[in-house]
Amino acid sequence: MGLSRLPPQCHHGTTPFYTLENIAELMSLVVVGSVAYDGVETPHGKVDRMLGGAATYISLAASYFTHVKIVAVVGDDFAQQDVDLLASRDIDLSGLERVPGKTFFWAGKYTPDMNDRETLITDLNVFADFNPKLPDHYKSQPYVFLGNIQPDLQDSVRMQVNGTRLIGGDTMNLWIDITRAQLLNTIKHWDFLLINDGEARMLSGLNHLGKAAEKIMAMGPKTLIIKRGEYGAMLFHPNGYFAVPGYLLDQLYDPTGAGDCFAGGFMGYLAGEGVDPANGPIDAKLLGRAVVYGSVLGSFCCEQFGVDRFRSLTKKDIDQRFEEFRTFTAF
Ligand code: AMP
Repeated sequence: MGLSRLPPQCHHGTTPFYTLENIAELMSLVVVGSVAYDGVETPHGKVDRMLGGAATYISLAASYFTHVKIVAVVGDDFAQQDVDLLASRDIDLSGLERVPGKTFFWAGKYTPDMNDRETLITDLNVFADFNPKLPDHYKSQPYVFLGNIQPDLQDSVRMQVNGTRLIGGDTMNLWIDITRAQLLNTIKHWDFLLINDGEARMLSGLNHLGKAAEKIMAMGPKTLIIKRGEYGAMLFHPNGYFAVPGYLLDQLYDPTGAGDCFAGGFMGYLAGEGVDPANGPIDAKLLGRAVVYGSVLGSFCCEQFGVDRFRSLTKKDIDQRFEEFRTFTAF
């Protein structure tokens, strides 16, 4: 483990009592967002109810790179087998609040080419009153990912943490539309923002992606990732940009959660590498690798329904596909 991966106290002070275990504990990624049940219909099949939610996908994807602590709310219908899946990836569930009522339920149906989907049901249930409260041992974590929830709630989480090295998140067209002022007030404190191309155009009011990126970066986040669905993703940072193509999947069963898994792979990799922007701008190559890991995790997510791919996915599978990306983008 290089010095850059150690928590700030280890760089100088006289704190000799860190072990590998509690360093890992100190270096966790906090993930906030929805934990849900989803109903999904794609041309390959239909599942009425299965584990979903943005925080679920982000946490599962990030758990291959770093230790994850989740902050979310579920109802009393949340099944033990779903708790077990998250726990099997060593995700800290002490911030998973369980309250009387039903877990958030979302249902959607994909178009035949699976590039688009229609939302059929959004039953917020216990998620309607979600007021994220971080357990004490979450508050000093260096990495925070704010999943897609109301911007004011995202900001309330930022205000509960101290000593954060890297913080960012994503959002959606709904918040850009109805809570624009709050969103601008929230993202101005972020190091990075992940959105799709349509949202980038909506947020900036500009069609040209490069100009849209410039305008959004001036709103706060110095690193911007614009996801482009099956066409890949673009990374913008103060020293330039980087583009990664989409992975051509043999089997695309269910794209639900792909964007969230991209986010989990991206942020999880940076957290696992112990990046610290306080020491200077994040290395562009490292950011590029994070975007490729994001694409790798997003692609695996689509290979089976819901979170099923994560029941068998290994770090070796991930690293193999990462190398495949290297091969088909080299020239
Ligand atoms: P993605 O396909 O990456 O957009 O993520 C889909 C996931 O987001 C599903 O598992 C849903 O449960 C969850 N989701 C859908 N709508 C919302 C919402 N309004 N707020 C939070 N999470 C949502």
